[in-house]
Amino acid sequence: MNFTDLNIIEPIARAIQGEGYTNPTPIQEKAIPEIIKGKDFLGCAQTGTGKTAAFAIPILQNLTNNKTPNNHIKALILTPTRELAIQIEESFKAYGKYLPLKKLVIFGGVKQGSQEAALKKGVDILVATPGRLLDFISQGIISLKDLEIFVLDEADRMLDMGFVHDVKRIIKLLPQKRQSLFFSATMPAEIQKLADSILVNPVKVEV
Ligand code: AMP
Repeated sequence: MNFTDLNIIEPIARAIQGEGYTNPTPIQEKAIPEIIKGKDFLGCAQTGTGKTAAFAIPILQNLTNNKTPNNHIKALILTPTRELAIQIEESFKAYGKYLPLKKLVIFGGVKQGSQEAALKKGVDILVATPGRLLDFISQGIISLKDLEIFVLDEADRMLDMGFVHDVKRIIKLLPQKRQSLFFSATMPAEIQKLADSILVNPVKVEV
């Protein structure tokens, strides 16, 4: 299969081509069409499988197609570490370079001033680690009331790192009507239970 078989809109297709990718990876081939359709998605996939593009590309496409003219956060990607958060934001920047969507990454361990200033300018796509996101929510700086798409990335690592309570608190703050995507390298019972509490009739893919 070629990327051109996936009905990706021109500005994203051009950016993918610019990255030098010709063929989608197996997770991309399965995830992109389903996520574009608006389905919830459960991906059992390790880092290195191309899972970031598997969610970033269709999120960029869906937000472009359903564009609501406001400054509210429309997609949230929750990931356990600062390094992963930075990588994910870079992927959104790369595949979304020809789109007007605003992206931001926030994480703890640094002063919040510059992140806060960027948030106040308006963000469409927010990549975050759980603790810093909750800090901004509790200060009233971030609202998730207009969220359309939620991604939980590396769910098993989230659990291993002790973020499960933070994640559950965040999930309670999301609108009921949303699209949810869930990625984990492993699927033990506790992770499956968490997935069941977040997803509605998901398409399930294991690579
Ligand atoms: P990930 O699994 O998301 O961490 O991605 C692993 C690496 O694969 C990243 O460095 C991507 O830039 C690269 N990559 C993602 N999709 C493709 C593709 N379709 N073709 C070639 N490389 C890719």
